[in-house]
Amino acid sequence: MTGEPGVLPLLQMALRIEQDIFVIRQRGREVASVVGLEHQDQIRIATALSEVARDLLRMVGGADVAFHVDAGADGRFHLRADLAPVAPLPGGRYEPQSGAVSRLVDTLSTSTVEGVTVVRMSRRVPANAPTPTPERLAEFRTELGRTAPASALDELTVQNGQLIAALDEVRSQRDELAVLNEELAETNRGVLALYNQLTEELEETNRGVVALYAELDEKSAQLRAASESKSRFLANVSHELRAPVTAIIGLGRLLTDSASDPLTAEQARQVDLIRSSAADLLGLVNDLLDLAKAESGRIEPDWADVDLRPVFGQLRGTLRALATRPDVELVVEEPPTPAVLRTDEVLLGQVLRNLLHNGLKFTERGEVRLRARRHDDRWILTVSDTGPGIEPELHERIFEEFYQVPGATRVGGTGLGLPYARRVVTLLGGTLELTSEPGRGSTFTVSLPVGGA
Ligand code: ADP
Repeated sequence: MTGEPGVLPLLQMALRIEQDIFVIRQRGREVASVVGLEHQDQIRIATALSEVARDLLRMVGGADVAFHVDAGADGRFHLRADLAPVAPLPGGRYEPQSGAVSRLVDTLSTSTVEGVTVVRMSRRVPANAPTPTPERLAEFRTELGRTAPASALDELTVQNGQLIAALDEVRSQRDELAVLNEELAETNRGVLALYNQLTEELEETNRGVVALYAELDEKSAQLRAASESKSRFLANVSHELRAPVTAIIGLGRLLTDSASDPLTAEQARQVDLIRSSAADLLGLVNDLLDLAKAESGRIEPDWADVDLRPVFGQLRGTLRALATRPDVELVVEEPPTPAVLRTDEVLLGQVLRNLLHNGLKFTERGEVRLRARRHDDRWILTVSDTGPGIEPELHERIFEEFYQVPGATRVGGTGLGLPYARRVVTLLGGTLELTSEPGRGSTFTVSLPVGGA
């Protein structure tokens, strides 16, 4: 701070008797107001002044008081009050009686300037106050000179007024606080109630979910059990059926054997009927047995490195006999080489025969084609035909057991071929999918990993 002596103070006054304390307090507030301190700060510095003045009057019998405005090192202005004691301070220092006093101002210290000891306090002028130029300071001096110090009684009245106002403020703040507290408690109660409700709802939901899961588990266990007993039933029944059906076929063959007694034409026709019905029945029983085995996981693939070319060659040969329609061509393409994958040759042959057989069964003109191509680490085998095609909504249903597209039954079959094929392909680590549109034929795609499952 620039506190050089010789700079004209804003105001000077003497502290010698008790009443002077009131005057110093009052004038201090006026100075603070003139230089632009806020109302609260005016009261603070005035209070600090009267406290220090009271101490100094008691300790050394008085002081000379001077007010200045300085530019501080922080570039801001400060109101400074110097109280120069009229006699040396005991111990050379001033310690305020009440420690709270120093908190009312920014600085409160004892300093010695050119041999003169002063008790100095300061408070920062707010940035929005007018800049105290020398001209303005001169104006302040004039202004302060004009207002005569009021009597101690006046100051007391003012002081009382301030005290009442402060008390009022405290009371209204306390009332406000009480209202706020009540509101807060209310809100808390609300939040707590909401929280409890939410917790309850959550628990309720949780209980529901847990119950639902328990039910689901139970249902799926029941389903599993039902499916297992169905497979077991199918396996047993078909196994038991096979022996008598085989016997019927054998006996029929015996009856028509040239070594047996000759039959009348009518008898021969009826025996043929019995034999072909029995053969159909055997086919069905075998399909059922296959499916039951596949479903119960009783099929163990016989893994080996299988060359697709001989497999395709065999299919070409055996299925030619089934391709009896003159307008339908069976095309088994030669697979690209090398055409080796790790799989079960017999099962793969069964699946492809099944698909090709279906194609030949349902296609009235055009072609049924088997093709193989390699895609990354998979073999993609497609059986496509130019047959009637299948409605999109039935694409999954035809893989269900016994499902046959309505109207398709006239060509015979059991509805077990595709579910079996899909089971087997899954067992071989692959997928069996269908793309088809009514009137545009069907393509069944078997995708198998080169390295096996
Ligand atoms: P099946 O052929 O013994 O009836 P599948 O399980 O092999 O039993 O086939 C189920 C049904 O899917 C068939 O009845 C038929 O309606 C339909 N389907 C299968 N393959 C074809 C195909 N290539 N073209 C048109 N429909 C087909």
